[in-house]
Amino acid sequence: MPDPLSLNVQHLKASETVAISNEAKRRKAAGEDVLDLGVGEPDFDTPAPAAQAGIQAIQRGMTRYPPNVGLAELRAGIAQQLSAMSGGRAVNPDNIIVSSGSKQSIFNACFSLFGPKDRVLIPSPAWVSYPQIVHLTRAEPVLVPGDPDWGLKVSVRDLDRASHKLTRGIILCSPCNPTGAVYTLAELKAIAEWAKKNDIWIISDEIYRRINYGPGPAPSLLDLPDELLERTVIIYGASKAYAMTGWRIGAALAPPHLTKAMAALQSHTTTGANHPAQWAAAAAFTDERVDAEVSRMVAAFRRRRDYLVDRFRSEAPGIEFVEPHGAFYFFFRVDGIRDTDPVTGQSFCEQLMKQEGVALVPGAAFADDRWVRLSYAVSDAELERALEKVLRLIHRLASARAA
Ligand code: PMP
Ligand code: GLU
Repeated sequence: MPDPLSLNVQHLKASETVAISNEAKRRKAAGEDVLDLGVGEPDFDTPAPAAQAGIQAIQRGMTRYPPNVGLAELRAGIAQQLSAMSGGRAVNPDNIIVSSGSKQSIFNACFSLFGPKDRVLIPSPAWVSYPQIVHLTRAEPVLVPGDPDWGLKVSVRDLDRASHKLTRGIILCSPCNPTGAVYTLAELKAIAEWAKKNDIWIISDEIYRRINYGPGPAPSLLDLPDELLERTVIIYGASKAYAMTGWRIGAALAPPHLTKAMAALQSHTTTGANHPAQWAAAAAFTDERVDAEVSRMVAAFRRRRDYLVDRFRSEAPGIEFVEPHGAFYFFFRVDGIRDTDPVTGQSFCEQLMKQEGVALVPGAAFADDRWVRLSYAVSDAELERALEKVLRLIHRLASARAA
């Protein structure tokens, strides 16, 4: 028997989304024809001006430790962008802390705010890492199922029902991974008012904010008045809208006392985010050419979303799905394909991988295995090929029922 590990990791499971991506990469390297629509990672290259700024930073010798909280230029760039997206509201760069991906920003915020006995509400289906991160703080994650008639979003009524005197926080994600649902400003306001009334912190993961199919960026807590933002953390980053997943730059905007704690935490863990990558991200947030490229990428995601929705509507009319209004995920329901012996997300994805060579993520990773997540951050050609295969499996399973 190996020595037991610490209670800190008693609930810890490896990320399923990361595992599926690794498995798809392994199969590809072994020469298999695998279409990876599992991981949520843009298929585009990092926009050239950002990549160039990273290269130049290395050439200029910006290879020593960065400032613990992030480069002033990057924090100013993020503040400027958050401000511009929210009608010019004041955003103080001193309240922004840059980390190694927004995953670390979320970890820093949760670890600084939550601990034993606290309960943290997580609307579900939920991105795979939220419950795990909350467990790492030794608080208890409480999943709050979203309303199937409302894009699987939660309302104040759902939160109220799940709440408890020990509830200390809620982690919101809009545009949502894994559903693509987007909360309206009125919905965010109602949740923020409820949280304020109950002294509950909101960690608002807005990493997909620019990948929004309505006009402009998705609504944000930053569109609300200051008095609703006293206990909020906004999570932002370069990975998704800027196609910069591998550079590992994320950020949190938080009240000063929390920013200070997160900076101290980070000073003992990573020291700070990769220095040249911070210069690349600073260019991404401020260069107008990058801005134009983000718009082109978002237009491509929107086109693919339309294509998927149209084909599912016409060729798999009985299959329920959440119509995505942002991010680049398509969440569809598989348990109803057959009414006897319902299909699970897990078995659907296993069959799809084995029989068709397509990787998707079972809903189990997001706490509801009646569903499956497809990431359409792949080329149009790959999406078309993969969709043929997904529809073929749906039809095969459905006709097995009829037989
Ligand atoms: N939040 C959500 C909702 C995500 O989908 C991801 C994707 N990994 C992250 C945070 C973390 O992204 P990153 O660490 O690359 O900034
Ligand atoms: N967020 C992406 C996903 O959901 C990337 C993988 C991860 O970090 O979970 O697929």
